[in-house]
Amino acid sequence: MKRKLSNQFFINFLVIFLMTILDTVLAFVLLSFASGFISGSLAKNRYPASAIIKENYNQIDASEVVESGGGVQVVDKEYRVVYSKGLDTIGKDKLTVEEFTVFLTESKNKPYHYDILYHPKGEFWLIVSFPTSIRLDFALVYNKAAAASDFMRAGWTIAFVVLSYFSLLALFSFIYSRITAASITIPLNKLCDGTRLLREGDYSVRVDLRLKNEFAELQNTFNDMAARIEHEIFLRKKSEEDRRRLILDLSHDLKNPMSSIQGYVELLMKKSGMTKQERDEHLEIILNNSKRANRLLTELFELSQLDSPEFSLKLAKTEICEYIRQICGELVPLLEQERFQYEFNIPEDNIFAMLDTDRFGRIIQNLASNAMRYNPRGTLVTVSLTVYDNQVLIDFSDDGIGIPDHLADHIFKPFVRADDSRNSKTGGSGLGLSIAKKIAEAHGGDLTLLPNKNKGSTFRITIPAI
Ligand code: ADP
Repeated sequence: MKRKLSNQFFINFLVIFLMTILDTVLAFVLLSFASGFISGSLAKNRYPASAIIKENYNQIDASEVVESGGGVQVVDKEYRVVYSKGLDTIGKDKLTVEEFTVFLTESKNKPYHYDILYHPKGEFWLIVSFPTSIRLDFALVYNKAAAASDFMRAGWTIAFVVLSYFSLLALFSFIYSRITAASITIPLNKLCDGTRLLREGDYSVRVDLRLKNEFAELQNTFNDMAARIEHEIFLRKKSEEDRRRLILDLSHDLKNPMSSIQGYVELLMKKSGMTKQERDEHLEIILNNSKRANRLLTELFELSQLDSPEFSLKLAKTEICEYIRQICGELVPLLEQERFQYEFNIPEDNIFAMLDTDRFGRIIQNLASNAMRYNPRGTLVTVSLTVYDNQVLIDFSDDGIGIPDHLADHIFKPFVRADDSRNSKTGGSGLGLSIAKKIAEAHGGDLTLLPNKNKGSTFRITIPAI
């Protein structure tokens, strides 16, 4: 059976209250035991009125009472104080009947202990008084001689009081247990609901308990966990989508050159009487298409390698200015051959970075080959290097046709091309920038496309300087 927290709390509170009552009873028993234990040593018990009373009150010896801090008074039948020694709480020589009655009835409530004894023969009251140190008045008084009906009535009244007391106790325990349990069950239920939703696949669920206790910590941990799961699921979905798109794009891109190769080979095999020129043309188409397919597969292989967990760079401390100058130097003959203008702004400083020079060179090569492939002759290609905030920034710009702003975020994804020129001659694999970005990231840096200011496009490589 499911045990509810609130019931458990109710039982716990009842047990605690009953234990408190038991403890209180025990305290009274102890108090009464202690009172009995010390009563023999208290002055009031050492000198009771019965011990010092004499028929002739003038013969009463009050010296020890007075020495112990007490007092002795004798009131005769005319309510006159005829004898007084030591402590005097009456404070008068003569009392009226009313005053004496008040004195007798209210003596219980005063902070004094009175032992009052009437001497029938001497016809006087002997009053022995001591100041009370501490007194706790609690007494259960009963008399067997009382009428049975009185007993019944008093018994029922006491039973009613006790019953009411326990009923109230149970009621308060119940209410209190509910309130206390609610402070735990409400946040617990909210967290349970959240967990259930999470299990059912709603990863956007978050819990807001508006508390500052340990539950708030649990709530934060839960929300963090939910956020992480949501992010992981998003990444997984995205990666699945990327993979699906990659396969789709790849099959699409491979289909054209492969069908073309197949078609021309079949033509060469079937068609007889073909001139040498015709044959050479067909063979050239076959060669170009196989080169295209080969390039696609090589670049895809490179991209997969960069993604693989086993991939690692062969990093070495490199003076980056000299290294970039060298690469730019290698680019010059190509740029001149394609009639491109160029400008290199590489400082003469000694700036070091950890580089896998072979891989890093691929970034510049890809950017340069793109600049030359997609832009018209006469385009100015600029390479500049600066250091900012301990980062080496290499900007590779051209003042060519540029890349549309809406593609800025996607251009680094595999198979994304600005003109979607899958079949055109300039159309590459669409993998060059993805490979370049992954290499930059593997170096702890990045490759980004800067917002298009004027003309052309600017790619920025960022690498941490050391
Ligand atoms: P590709 O193999 O198609 O060149 P990339 O990933 O290297 O693949 O480039 C993606 C696309 O970005 C290219 O198809 C091209 O449309 C565009 N692009 C890249 N660099 C430039 C540039 N310097 N100027 C204009 N467009 C560019």
